[in-house]
Amino acid sequence: MGPIDQNNRGGISRVSVTRASRPDKKQIKEAFERLLGAFGGIRKIIPPDVKKVLIKPNLMMGEPWTTGITVNPFIVELLIMELKKERINVIVGEGAGWGCPSDDAFKATGITGLCSKLEVPLVDFKRGETVRLSVPDGSVLKYIVVDRVVPECDFIINVAKMKTHCETIASLSLKNMKGFIAEDKERLRFHLLDVNRCLVDLNRTIRADFSIVEGIIALEGIGPLFPGKPKPLGVLAGGKDPVAVDSVCARIMGMDPAEIRHIQYAYEAGLGKIDLDDIEVAGESIESVKPVSWELPPLTIEALSPFNEIRIVNGNPCSNCIASLASYLHGYIDKKIIEEATTNVEILIGKKAVSSGSGKEIAIGNCLERYRGKLPFVSGCPPPSDAYLELIALGLKGDFKPLTVNSDARIVDPENGESE
Ligand code: SF4
Repeated sequence: MGPIDQNNRGGISRVSVTRASRPDKKQIKEAFERLLGAFGGIRKIIPPDVKKVLIKPNLMMGEPWTTGITVNPFIVELLIMELKKERINVIVGEGAGWGCPSDDAFKATGITGLCSKLEVPLVDFKRGETVRLSVPDGSVLKYIVVDRVVPECDFIINVAKMKTHCETIASLSLKNMKGFIAEDKERLRFHLLDVNRCLVDLNRTIRADFSIVEGIIALEGIGPLFPGKPKPLGVLAGGKDPVAVDSVCARIMGMDPAEIRHIQYAYEAGLGKIDLDDIEVAGESIESVKPVSWELPPLTIEALSPFNEIRIVNGNPCSNCIASLASYLHGYIDKKIIEEATTNVEILIGKKAVSSGSGKEIAIGNCLERYRGKLPFVSGCPPPSDAYLELIALGLKGDFKPLTVNSDARIVDPENGESE
């Protein structure tokens, strides 16, 4: 792993921005080569004493890269080929998102086939032996738990996706590092503490030595999963300073990086540059690749509901519960039940959500198991959106009987037992 330069205040950070005018392999390869070329090529990027390089792509779910959710495996292939040309040892590693076996994500994104074809080890961070690393000067975390191969590698290339994110607003290179956390329960700690500060502590502990953000097909709207929408943009960005890379990408997405908390906190922690005066943008200018518009996610959990009749009680849910609820409220809910509502419904979500006793509440997700039998409750982690249907529809009609809907959508009535 690269040393952390906590005093990364002086000098200028270079960020290379390149464009592929079509998402075909020829154009992408040329854009990739121009990106590395801005740093003198892979041999100049990687110091001569490096023994083993770890590539960490965003493969959070079993969705192909064209959805805007995961990275284009061709970028990983190009990197591996460059490293092999220089006879540098390389491995690929990732831990998929909550509830998704990494194997499923690896297969669906094409990384399993790619690594086997190129004879490169592929490590599932959620299944290997782990080690604890202390967080230097952690503001929230004292340690992180990662696969033991991580500290054995002496150079990390982070390949992130350019995405909007319901919880952290943007998911770029700093956020992509979360896939290093080996255990789901450790990832959950991020959400229960403060995800933005935890991301900074994580990046203090493991610094990517080079970061690439793939925005060939980016994601806009309610990300990081569906109903976020693919946004063909044709952009790659990369550099050695992850804060500078994310700051440039945020601007391409039409956002002020200082308003994206984990980027601002990372800058305040000395992990990189945020101001354009301290960043040299090589290749394409930000303005030349910035789209006319970019659909942002709601800026708070409470704002996830587009309906006055449904209020969200924020208990710091993790992004999986957020994505599941957002996908239901924005994509699948039957608008008729809203039109016919006779009362409002409050949805408690996330472990810290507390019932106000209003009598109009529904609790969702295993984090709120304590409300089973007390409030209408939907189990699951995350609860699938089809499990919400019944209880929200009943609630909007004023029926708040404390039924439980299990994650397989079976209803349990506390008085009469399982009903279907
Ligand atoms: S119940 Fe929801 S918020 Fe809680 S851990 Fe599961 S997915 Fe995350």
